[in-house]
Amino acid sequence: DVRVRFAPSPTGHLHIGGARSALFNYLFARNQGGKFILRIEDTDQARNVEQAKEKLLESLKWLGVDWDESIDTGGEYGPYSSMERIDIYKKYVQQLVDEGKAYYCYMTPEELEEERAAQLARGEAPKYGGRDRELTSEQRQAYEDKGLKPVIRFRVQEGNVVTIEDAVRGDVSFETDGIGDFVIARNDGVPMYNFAVVIDDHLMKISHVIRGEEHLSNSPRQALLFEAFGWGKPTFAHASLILNPDRQKMSKRDESIIQFVEQYKELGYLPEALVNFLALLGWSPVGEEEMFTLEQLSDQFSLERVSKAPAVFDTSKLAWMNNQYIQAAPLEKVIDLSLPHLIKAGRISENPGETDKEWAGKLIGLYQEQLHYGAEIVELTDLFFKQEIEYNEEAKTVLHEEQVPEVLNHFLSELNQLEEFTAPHIKNAVKATQKATGQKGKKLFMPIRVAVTGQTHGPELPDTIELLGKEAVSARLTHAAS
Ligand code: GLU
Repeated sequence: DVRVRFAPSPTGHLHIGGARSALFNYLFARNQGGKFILRIEDTDQARNVEQAKEKLLESLKWLGVDWDESIDTGGEYGPYSSMERIDIYKKYVQQLVDEGKAYYCYMTPEELEEERAAQLARGEAPKYGGRDRELTSEQRQAYEDKGLKPVIRFRVQEGNVVTIEDAVRGDVSFETDGIGDFVIARNDGVPMYNFAVVIDDHLMKISHVIRGEEHLSNSPRQALLFEAFGWGKPTFAHASLILNPDRQKMSKRDESIIQFVEQYKELGYLPEALVNFLALLGWSPVGEEEMFTLEQLSDQFSLERVSKAPAVFDTSKLAWMNNQYIQAAPLEKVIDLSLPHLIKAGRISENPGETDKEWAGKLIGLYQEQLHYGAEIVELTDLFFKQEIEYNEEAKTVLHEEQVPEVLNHFLSELNQLEEFTAPHIKNAVKATQKATGQKGKKLFMPIRVAVTGQTHGPELPDTIELLGKEAVSARLTHAAS
């Protein structure tokens, strides 16, 4: 039975790399009719962040990546957060100690640091030197009497090779030289990630460990532990690294890229688009199509098509994709994405009345084709909220054409005679201007567009004029005609 897990540590918001791992696990489980487990790995208590668990769950839910077993839903293999499983781990730590596969180590942080510095000075790769490997009970007692509290280290035999089966990379082998006896439990009895993860993956009957390449280096330690217990190893699948748009390794401090799912939500991205985009980061479907719903992705996903070549996080592609989804969305949804940003920018009042709301809805509708994400509405619609607009160079050139004053003045007088200041009537005013001035096409539209918007491109002109309102349009026409 396929059972997979996403196992975030609650150290912050859901990162896009984590979201991709979660998604791949989810898609694989759904594709295989298996189970997707969400497990919280919180044994590194110093790094835990308040509310992070809740936020992680919230972000995953928003993406539509839901789980079969976790801290909120429960399940047969719980509890699903590591700190609630301490007693389970202790039992297995003890087993390794009893079997001589793990031992107590009393070296202090200072002593370890000294050892490390000396190794580095000799040009050696630092690793635990094995001082406490063979302590007698008298030696242990002496340390205990000094009040020292031991960590527990796993004994690593040198000169061996340990192998994992990786669905993306094939068999991957690691030499045990250089690993060194590693800590499996801290001196307060709380196990380390590499230990807890093995116990949990085994007891939760995890069949496949799908995660990012950054965890590949943890695999030999985990594999050694599986072997020490005599347990079968899961199949691993280490997906490629995600590079930033400059093809550099992404770091959490990298500002060239928005890193957290919650930020995308706040900026007015659609979860469907983000999921679609993330799925293509290191996985490729058969064929050329790139737009997929979560369900279609579930149908098509396979580990065979997960790539080990680094995937580049192409921000403009994400924006393009989100725009595709926005174009296809019902206007109501686009309003939900955008209106809060107009309000936040102080352009629409916090509790807009019916008229304002309707106006804002129309305005957003006007830009639906163009909009890449909700927050972008603020800059796109800037010209609707300014007393004076600026003309860019292209626009200035247009206004210098000789027919301009006549066109604008005539159009203005047509507008003044309109019974209703609505797009269809405004369209008629344009037509009447065409008839009266003999100008048509660009010679007619461009000056009007530039005069009222300051720009040479934009959405439907009559609608734009309607939404700008008679007063602003008249003032702008008068100004541009003079
Ligand atoms: N808790 C680990 C993390 O947050 C999970 C790694 C794994 O999937 O084994 O990165």
